[in-house]
Amino acid sequence: MKKREHSPDQPRLLLVGAGHAHLQALVYLCQAFEQTPVQGERGNFEVVLLEQANPIWYSGMFSAVLHGCEIPEQSTIDLVGFARRVSQAFAPWGIKFTWIQDRYRNTYENRKIETEKGKIIDFSVLSFNLGAPLAPVDRLEGIQAKPLAKLYAVLLSIKTEGLQNVPIEILGAGASGIELALGIREFLKELSPQIVVVGSRGILPTRPRAVQDFIVHLLQVRGIKLAANSEDSPYLRVFSTGFVKEPFFEVDHDLGVLGRPSTYAVGDGIQFEGREMVWGGVFPIRQAPYILRQWIGAQDLPWPRSILNGRPLGKILPPVNRKAVSTIKNKKPLQILTLGGKEGALGLRGRFWIRGSWVLRLKQNIDTRFVEQFSIKKSPKR
Ligand SMILES: Cc1cc2nc3c(=O)[nH]c(=O)nc-3n(C[C@H](O)[C@H](O)[C@H](O)COP(=O)(O)OP(=O)(O)OC[C@H]3O[C@@H](n4cnc5c(N)ncnc54)[C@H](O)[C@@H]3O)c2cc1C
Repeated sequence: MKKREHSPDQPRLLLVGAGHAHLQALVYLCQAFEQTPVQGERGNFEVVLLEQANPIWYSGMFSAVLHGCEIPEQSTIDLVGFARRVSQAFAPWGIKFTWIQDRYRNTYENRKIETEKGKIIDFSVLSFNLGAPLAPVDRLEGIQAKPLAKLYAVLLSIKTEGLQNVPIEILGAGASGIELALGIREFLKELSPQIVVVGSRGILPTRPRAVQDFIVHLLQVRGIKLAANSEDSPYLRVFSTGFVKEPFFEVDHDLGVLGRPSTYAVGDGIQFEGREMVWGGVFPIRQAPYILRQWIGAQDLPWPRSILNGRPLGKILPPVNRKAVSTIKNKKPLQILTLGGKEGALGLRGRFWIRGSWVLRLKQNIDTRFVEQFSIKKSPKR
């Protein structure tokens, strides 16, 4: 990195992207600040969160919304409310928190970044949690599954305009493609959409044969077609094609971006030792304590000592020498797909699988608890 030319007036931790890990780490910090009595100490620095979207859809609950099991307000995170909670928790400790709604432009040099609206933001420590870009598909027109707010708006407009029999193509037959097809079919069922799932390698290609057969049967029963190739021009094509292989950020064991001092990255947008990573929201959440340790340990940031030594954070922060990426990213998590109807949901771990309405309830429980953490109502009284 080039020599530092410019430094912020005040030390600044700049968080780019309100992905799962950043949000979860901020919740841990709020809890620690809210539970530890202030004893005249001051941190005297600033935390800035740069995020383009608000509200933020929680992808794990998107399908449940389409099936009518959840409502959008309970499946999204309102950053206005959450930012207020973080500001309130940080303020007594002399730490200023600001959320800037803007888009990061893909450059960062000399400890400053530029946003799409042309704002230059200095930082002492930088942390990225931007998710991963979905793979583009040449020559085909359509929209990416993410951001989910855009997809939801398109589906809602089909519904409100009462468009009958619209051809909809879901490109990608992995877990999110299947969930989307089943969810969209349910969301628009009065309008009888013609849904096709396109999977050039078949349905859930890495899953056991019995699971594939079950899903193929379920799609047939629900009137959803399968195809190996894309059709000419459907009314709506949704790319659910998996992520691009090129990583945003190559990181080390401690989530540090290679060759970039004081810069960290978490979530789907990272790669470690050139290895293929397992994707999914569960990994960034598991990385949250590790990235928090990096923020807390950053030399440039004068955290109040009682927060460093306090019990609330002591319970959360993992040991220093755990290998944040390698130990977390390659564990097989339980993956739960919302199926809707009497089938409920399908739970998968390796070759093991289960299904039923209780699996859906389990998923709803886990997801609701995650999203509720960001609600201003959850903030304990001070
Ligand atoms: C339909 C669907 C269903 C899914 N269901 C599940 C599930 O049930 N369980 C599961 O574990 N995973 C699920 N996933 C995968 C999951 O969404 C991702 O793995 C997870 O969101 C990645 O988290 P992250 O923290 O890396 O980033 P994200 O949660 O994607 O967050 C990245 C944030 O960065 C912001 N951002 C991006 N670029 C910029 C920029 N340039 N400037 C400013 N801000 C920016 C985005 O607005 C976003 O808020 C699903 C995905 C889809 C598409």
